[in-house]
Amino acid sequence: MTTNRTFTMIKPDAVANGHIGGILDKITSAGFKIVAMKYTQLSRRDAQEFYAVHRERPFFGELVQFMTRGPIVSAILEKDNAVEDFRALIGATNPAEAAEGTIRKMYATDIAENAVHGSDSDENATIEGAFHFSGREIY
Ligand code: GDP
Repeated sequence: MTTNRTFTMIKPDAVANGHIGGILDKITSAGFKIVAMKYTQLSRRDAQEFYAVHRERPFFGELVQFMTRGPIVSAILEKDNAVEDFRALIGATNPAEAAEGTIRKMYATDIAENAVHGSDSDENATIEGAFHFSGREIY
């Protein structure tokens, strides 16, 4: 089933570097509507669970350390073709390979500290959104 929603996080690097406003402007200017949003910090357990699919990867420990080191902004976004269009807007995982004008090209530091998360499928968008928000927090 395709949905018109995706899930994002502005990661600790981008929050610490003062890019919340710039990134939200890119998101809303691209036609995404924010239907849920919060400023929060992930616990170690949250990050381990959220990224469980990567637990066998060599960078898992670093990833959990990074994602828990400071506050993030998490949000659910709505737009036609949300998952695919948002992945295009954020650009490649490694900002060195991201296209000009993408959020990661503009705001990411490197492949680890890459400024934003974007769901990679409709199924994961639903799971990730439900991990961060209760039904009452989504409009
Ligand atoms: P995404 O879907 O573009 O976010 O990329 P992946 O699902 O492959 O990886 C998830 C996240 O793990 C990335 O967004 C990075 O924050 C982090 N990551 C990916 N590759 C590396 C790596 O080689 N080293 C480290 N430290 N982190 C990585």
